[in-house]
Amino acid sequence: YGSSSQKTDYVFKVVLIGDSAVGKSQILSRFSRNEFSLDSKATIGVEFQTRTLLIHHKSVKAQIWDTAGQERYRAVTSAYYRGAVGAMLVYDITKRQTFDHIPRWLEELRAHADKNIVIMLIGNKTDLENQRAVPTEDAKEFAEKEGLFFLETSALEATNVEEAFVTVLTQIFNIVN
Ligand code: GDP
Ligand code: MG
Repeated sequence: YGSSSQKTDYVFKVVLIGDSAVGKSQILSRFSRNEFSLDSKATIGVEFQTRTLLIHHKSVKAQIWDTAGQERYRAVTSAYYRGAVGAMLVYDITKRQTFDHIPRWLEELRAHADKNIVIMLIGNKTDLENQRAVPTEDAKEFAEKEGLFFLETSALEATNVEEAFVTVLTQIFNIVN
């Protein structure tokens, strides 16, 4: 009681997928370091970032993997998906095409990942509401049909980013416990 024990109870690998420029790296940066950059070149080519949080009084280390420009169809390798227990499937609410590609990403994910993987569909860039091209209802309907969690986020305004990860990590936690 009261000690600052560093022990980690769980490590959960979560992968970020979706088209290029939808904001995957900035979502990760917001979640892991509470930082945001409008310059996408600021994206560093690291494989993953970690952040440890408490879920039901247990220490959970989230290991979040980011693609380093491999977003072309089928360029993401199976090694990327290996061991993943969660996935963030991201599109840009201002770019219809990025939402239309979601079924492909889902197919890729289901082909490579564990069948019990927890998936969150994320519509990013809600701060650009005046440029919206994907109605919330369309995404909600798709998510329900496919059994995915769904949230709209803004990495820029820090809206729902924390909620998205906490939802997925808590769901994973509940599955393994
Ligand atoms: P990635 O290719 O999916 O990793 O996308 P990035 O994270 O590199 O983001 C692509 C561009 O979109 C960059 O210029 C980011 O600054 C910008 N961006 C990311 N998230 C948001 C957001 O929530 N709102 C706005 N307005 N721009 C964003
Ligand atoms: Mg990126």
